[in-house]
Amino acid sequence: MSEVRDLIVIGGGPAGYTAALYAARANLQPLVIEGFSWGGQLMITSDVENYPGYPDGIMGPEMMAEFRRQAERFGTEFLTDNVTRVDFSERPFRVWVEDEEYRARSVIVATGASARWLGLDSEDRLKGRGVSACATCDGAFFRDKHIYVAGGGDSAFEEALFLTRFGYKVTLVHRRSEFRASQIMVDRARDHEKIEFKTPYVVEEVLGEDSISGLKLRNTETGESEEVEAGALFVAIGHDPNTALFVDQLDHDANGYLVAKPGTTETNVPGVFAAGDVQDHIYRQAVTAAGSGCMAALDAERFLAAEEGHAATALTAPRPEAEPTQV
Ligand code: NAP
Repeated sequence: MSEVRDLIVIGGGPAGYTAALYAARANLQPLVIEGFSWGGQLMITSDVENYPGYPDGIMGPEMMAEFRRQAERFGTEFLTDNVTRVDFSERPFRVWVEDEEYRARSVIVATGASARWLGLDSEDRLKGRGVSACATCDGAFFRDKHIYVAGGGDSAFEEALFLTRFGYKVTLVHRRSEFRASQIMVDRARDHEKIEFKTPYVVEEVLGEDSISGLKLRNTETGESEEVEAGALFVAIGHDPNTALFVDQLDHDANGYLVAKPGTTETNVPGVFAAGDVQDHIYRQAVTAAGSGCMAALDAERFLAAEEGHAATALTAPRPEAEPTQV
């Protein structure tokens, strides 16, 4: 039978690696089961210009490699594989990678969320080269371009409004003529001089070799297609939290996001914590995910200390205002 570890972190993005860094420095010797596609959404982001501490920006994949290296420096172990099953019904918690079982007294779930994509080959080919799913990350690269946004929900409207800071024109393409977004967002976009609407249309193909030159759009009512000039396409058709493995064991909302007790990362199972985008559909930034990973490690550390009977640091004890060694 496998050894019982103090902590397993599931997920290798900003939340998981930050949790591992803090936990490793607290001598919890965490195992991060980081997934085959470790690094998360930052692996499909080019320059990151809004993560504090990188005044000249940094490439998303490079930043994730640095997060990982920093966690490794303090003794984190990594397993580059996907978790296939978990059992949180009793302690120690059990986590499987195929037939291999790992056991731990605490678990941090940091599996993130994945942007939904349209599913076009041309979209895939031009990801990071004009096709993006994150206006906050990539909008600034498309100054004075004609930017298209696909989607009809609040995210699409929010992205479109944000992108007006950069593009000379922003066109929102939506497959229906009614919008799912809240009325206030729709009104705000309708009132904006830079925003135009193209409905009911879907993006059928992204045109261009090394960067976008245009889009092929199809009218969903008439079936007619047309080509338009475009400098960027932001796909904003929703995100899906990566929670399929957990939803039968952890509390979640209607969209599958894990629910943490407000102000903490505690799930409904004591000893299991949720950090990053897997429990946050609002902010979804690398820096907020990292912050939440830090919270999860501190929560896990306190949980384990309480389990061992260290009353001074027990969960029931007041949370310290600041911990000098953990700046
Ligand atoms: P959403 O509400 O699920 O909207 C997704 C949109 O994408 C819908 O308009 C949908 O079209 C369209 N869509 C889905 N799949 C598509 C496909 N394959 N091809 C073309 N279009 C497709 O997702 P969201 O906008 O990300 O919002 C998620 C949640 O977060 C919502 O509850 C939202 O209110 C909330 N949110 C709130 C704010 C805010 O309040 N500021 C900001 C962002 C998000 P149909 O309408 O035809 O289904």
